[in-house]
Amino acid sequence: MNQPDIDWKHLPFGYYPTDYNVRCYFRDGKWGEIEVSQSDKIELHMAATSLHYGQELFEGLKAFRGKDGKIRIFRLEDNGTRLQDSANGILMEPVPADLFREMVIKAVKLNERFIPPYGSGASLYIRPLEIGISPSIGVRSATEYMFMIMVTPVGPYFKTGFGCTDICIMRQYDRVAPRGTGRYKIGGNYAASLAASHHAHEMGYSAVLFLDPKEKKYLDECGPANFFAIIDGKYVTPKSDSILPSITNRALQQLARDMGIEVEERHITVDELEKATEAGACGTAAVISPVGTIHDEDTGKDYVISADRKPGPVCTALYERLNAIRLGEYPDEYGWNTIVE
Ligand SMILES: *Cc1c(COP(=O)(O)O)cnc(C)c1O
Repeated sequence: MNQPDIDWKHLPFGYYPTDYNVRCYFRDGKWGEIEVSQSDKIELHMAATSLHYGQELFEGLKAFRGKDGKIRIFRLEDNGTRLQDSANGILMEPVPADLFREMVIKAVKLNERFIPPYGSGASLYIRPLEIGISPSIGVRSATEYMFMIMVTPVGPYFKTGFGCTDICIMRQYDRVAPRGTGRYKIGGNYAASLAASHHAHEMGYSAVLFLDPKEKKYLDECGPANFFAIIDGKYVTPKSDSILPSITNRALQQLARDMGIEVEERHITVDELEKATEAGACGTAAVISPVGTIHDEDTGKDYVISADRKPGPVCTALYERLNAIRLGEYPDEYGWNTIVE
């Protein structure tokens, strides 16, 4: 297997071309055969529902080269289930679990030479994507769908070590509506958040900590990640219908319980941040992005979570444990890894 000439440690989180992608079409009421392609282009009808009415959803998961040399895909089944939830949420055709699994494994195997070596901190990012492809000018859901999976190697999220970032609260933007589509992993939610993120970046913050869109009282989604804080020694994370159920967050909750830390999924008011001893944004990309300061743009208040800008002990322990499981360095007690034979 000839290894590509990649500087794994300095690889960005971007699109690096790989050898193959896999595709499957839903037509005439059924899913067809899995197709393997070497092209990174797709041909699409200009009236496809995905282009006009936002029928697009995606997933994000990772494969790792473990300590033992084996390839592990983290929480494949859960990503498949969530993809089905997203499909049902915006009236698209859900991809059957078996098909999802087969295609993810196929995409990883075909591109095995792009799986970063153990110890590099890099991983193979897997991006499943579904779009409505049948033409329609009237607003309705498509009758035909394309499901594809691309993979691309991504570098370590923390290039200079596991470190803190600052985030901000801004009440002038909502990512989603109270009973809208926030709990689905769809492109539309991202389009709706771009202006807010851009504004935050311009002010020097890495993400917007959105408040609940109904009352603007409770903490909600943190940019493209879930939020949690350590308050009174407990792992506290927002309970909300408008956030995406992060699989990383669920894993961290389990690991916290295993470490004897109580977990609470509940409404969290902004002023409770005064009591937070640690906080983090969590998701597949970074696992945990520890938070230094949370700036409230409307009141001018700064909630300093980490004065020395170092990740706290709980964030560090959770981060290390989750990484160790994904790399086969720590027992996978919950069967989260799919080992690719
Ligand atoms: C993907 C995503 C997350 C993180 O989910 P994971 O399953 O942990 O990767 C959180 N919030 C949003 C809006 C997302 O799209």
